[in-house]
Amino acid sequence: MKNLLVQKMKQAGFVLMMGMAFISCEKNPITLVLHNPIYPTGSQAVTYNAERVTDGSISDAKLYETVNTINNSGSITSTGTETLLQTWNSPSGDLSFTKPSGHGDNKLVTYRWVFTTPDQTKTFKVTYATRPYPVANIPAPVYVQGDPDDVFDLVFIPDTDVTSMNTFYTNCRGAIREAFFEEPHTQFWRRQYNFYINKEKGHATDYDHTETDGYHVAPSNNAYLSFAEGKVIMHQLDLRDYRMGSLFSTEMQNRGTIMHESGHAFYSLADEYSGGVHWQEEVLPNNWTTLAGAQAASTGYGSCKQSSDAVQIDDSGYHRLCVSNCQMGHYVSQTRPTGYDCPGQSRITYVVFDNASN
Ligand SMILES: [Zn+2]
Repeated sequence: MKNLLVQKMKQAGFVLMMGMAFISCEKNPITLVLHNPIYPTGSQAVTYNAERVTDGSISDAKLYETVNTINNSGSITSTGTETLLQTWNSPSGDLSFTKPSGHGDNKLVTYRWVFTTPDQTKTFKVTYATRPYPVANIPAPVYVQGDPDDVFDLVFIPDTDVTSMNTFYTNCRGAIREAFFEEPHTQFWRRQYNFYINKEKGHATDYDHTETDGYHVAPSNNAYLSFAEGKVIMHQLDLRDYRMGSLFSTEMQNRGTIMHESGHAFYSLADEYSGGVHWQEEVLPNNWTTLAGAQAASTGYGSCKQSSDAVQIDDSGYHRLCVSNCQMGHYVSQTRPTGYDCPGQSRITYVVFDNASN
């Protein structure tokens, strides 16, 4: 399967066309579903939100919930029944529903939104655990949608420098909503991400001070995190962030930085600024070793790119097609995502399919 897929994906135009075809599949309104707090204690109230980010009418919306009880192995010991929490008829604006008294300890909660629009019916199903999660060494699922083999799994790891765990939890939710669900291309692929919160802490170092400070320190349960394509140490102090394989760092409040570093970790996107790390991926790269290579690739992105967009990344010896403000073009921390340009988008779409089919 992989070889066939790669062969097909090598036709860069194919990927773009496919991406566009899928984009036309989701009809308006685009709705983002999220819960708050993202990792509630057993006694905390939980609010379910469905936020409309585009115009468009909803004929009716339904919200269901199932509450399962788990033991300290993570096995379900008591299966709940799916319950209809609320129905909305021809609602306007954003929707929300609050479960006022929490779900209890050792719970795995699944909620399911069903939106019927004039054009289609859309379902979103999300599972989260209540805190504390009883399973040793395993990160708590806080927003899980798909089979971990088929989607991107991101584990949020608190840095030892974090002084308020509540601020950390708030920023985990912020990273989902204001980074992955905000950047247009990852928002489009938002069903392809699972998010978890790790109890064990890690420690991030500054890329410019690794000689004295050493490299990122993974959490003690790192051996249990190999299922995750991304592990992000969320720190409080300002650092120059970097990634080592699937482990990377960000200031916990910076939504642009997490998109840049996860661009490396999830999709193997290279840096597009001078002084970064450069390489040319075999399939749908965003860096090219030659100007001619970048120029030739420019035809693969429809009207988005032209041959004249190919430029050398200063004196790096590598070339790019992306605009300088692309998500992978930033050297310094970014509070907000600036967006992946077309070559990055095509590569993300390719890796989404590769991940889902292997
Ligand atoms: Zn980078």
